Amino acid sequence: MCGIVAYIGKKDAYPIIVKGLKRLEYRGYDSAGIALFNDDLHMYKKKGKVNDLTSFVKGKNLEGKVGIGHTRWATHGEPNDVNAHPHTCQNGRLTLIHNGIIENYATIKEALIKDGHSFQSDTDTEVLVHLIGAIQEKDNLPLEEAVRIALSQVVGAYAIVVLDKENPTQLVAARKASPLVVGIGKDEFFLASDATPLVGYTDQVVYLNDEEIAIVNANGTFEIKTIDNEVQTPYIQHLNMNIEKLEKGDYEYFMLKEIYEQPNTIADCMRGRLNAAAGWIRVGGIEKENVKEKMLNAKRFIMAACGTSWHAALIGEYLFEELARIPVEVEYASELRYRNPIINKDDVVIALSQSGETADTLAALEMAKEKGALIYGIVNSVGSSIARITDSGSYIHAGPEIGVASTKAFTGQVTALTLMAINMGYKRGTIPKSYYHQLLRGLEEIPQKVQEALECNDQIEKLAAKFINTKHTLYLGRGYNFPIALEGALKLKEISYIHAEGYPAAEMKHGPIALIDENMPVVVIATNKSAYEKIVSNIQEVKARKGIVIAIVTKGDQEIRKIADYTIEIPDTEEPLTPLLSVIPLQLLSYHIALIRGCNVDQPRNLAKSVTVE
Ligand code: GLU
Repeated sequence: MCGIVAYIGKKDAYPIIVKGLKRLEYRGYDSAGIALFNDDLHMYKKKGKVNDLTSFVKGKNLEGKVGIGHTRWATHGEPNDVNAHPHTCQNGRLTLIHNGIIENYATIKEALIKDGHSFQSDTDTEVLVHLIGAIQEKDNLPLEEAVRIALSQVVGAYAIVVLDKENPTQLVAARKASPLVVGIGKDEFFLASDATPLVGYTDQVVYLNDEEIAIVNANGTFEIKTIDNEVQTPYIQHLNMNIEKLEKGDYEYFMLKEIYEQPNTIADCMRGRLNAAAGWIRVGGIEKENVKEKMLNAKRFIMAACGTSWHAALIGEYLFEELARIPVEVEYASELRYRNPIINKDDVVIALSQSGETADTLAALEMAKEKGALIYGIVNSVGSSIARITDSGSYIHAGPEIGVASTKAFTGQVTALTLMAINMGYKRGTIPKSYYHQLLRGLEEIPQKVQEALECNDQIEKLAAKFINTKHTLYLGRGYNFPIALEGALKLKEISYIHAEGYPAAEMKHGPIALIDENMPVVVIATNKSAYEKIVSNIQEVKARKGIVIAIVTKGDQEIRKIADYTIEIPDTEEPLTPLLSVIPLQLLSYHIALIRGCNVDQPRNLAKSVTVE
């Protein structure tokens, strides 16, 4: 995780870098630092947010047309001023920022200490810059060569930018398993973890590939090479992102803005892919030649994901099994990659990741590819690593998601999966024609119904006030709403720090029921048509033990209203489409509880958005 930004050109680097770091702060925010070169190198580092850094540097020398900056999510060494990036080499000539983990740092560090090196920080990163510096110094090598040799000795993941104060008209950057984008302006270059810091400056970008090095110069020239020194022809792409999407507007937090964007983001995900009146669904990724047949005839889908994306994948399991009759297994990517799974050529591995950079998901995909499976990505970030290594895929078109707790990316993933499952079910003849058309019409109405579901905001805000001192919460759901119970619990945990568990409603009697007493709020997602009576019984079981029931029900439901303590209504829809609506009140509930508890909703403690380390 962590965000890196660097600039070289004719403008002042400081404001560009600071603005970029603020846009990347979702990636990590435990400390920040910057190094600028004018007559000499000036480096400032501070524990805390980017704003702590900007207050700290007030009145200091911030000049320079070249600089590198970092906002950290610590992996090695606690978050403090010293461990903050940038780090410098032994003779002070090189300064470096890094995203990732150098796994063999301990061995390298030991060897360097024997050679007389001394270290200031506890980070793996400082070891890397010392190594590059030592290689450069020994044979007086150009920086790019020293970087190349050093990187061939390290194991792990990195996106780095290095500044040499003896040659401040050049920056050298490289990546492996951590993202890095080069922005090309007129006689200027930007380097960043994702494209957001570039918006407003340039729309010409190159996404570096693994084991590539970029050498960018103040005179406007640049070169991309592999770490084996082969020159690459850069693939320059057009960046399509606008400023409004990167700013909060009138909302207090990005998370609330993103919750409210969902009617539009779901519509964007379906745009050009669905026409209920004409009776078609088209998802480019699954129509591609060489992909279509393999998908339709797959023996099995394996879905690999982490966190919220894993919950979307679980909904995918319900959708594909019910509608397309394709067996699905849902895997935590971090487990899948390390457990020697059985994956065959006639399996399709579908990866879900908002950022498209999730390290474990990426690694699981690479393994599946080696085993001969077709690999498919459902991602949000255009041009991300998963988007590039997969055989095919679907973008969810949700726009940048900045709030660390995922909301619109989740509904985007579920929308993409729903489109795919209905399309494939129809083609495989596993959904009756009339039901197919019913689903299409239902799906087309979803953005409007999400809008209606959002109307419960005021009711939820009042409700939230009653639960701010709660220590534990249970979330129960059945069928399509079981993954929503998991997602609701995760949302509450991550932003309000209240312990919460999601369970299939019927599993409650196998353990969690022991926790229920008059202090335990139990959120029951009870919009199911099938198994409705069963979920009503589950609510009765909670009430019989004096639990406090907050029920999410279908508009007009009378029965549950009589037994639950609180009911929140959402519009009616076809059952497989319910998750797109039932998650909305749960997102709002966690938001308001966190807000009243005074938590930083967009930047919850210990978390970062794009998990690019294992
Ligand atoms: N491993 C480095 C550190 O702990 C970088 C972490 C990151 O990528 O956020 O400082």
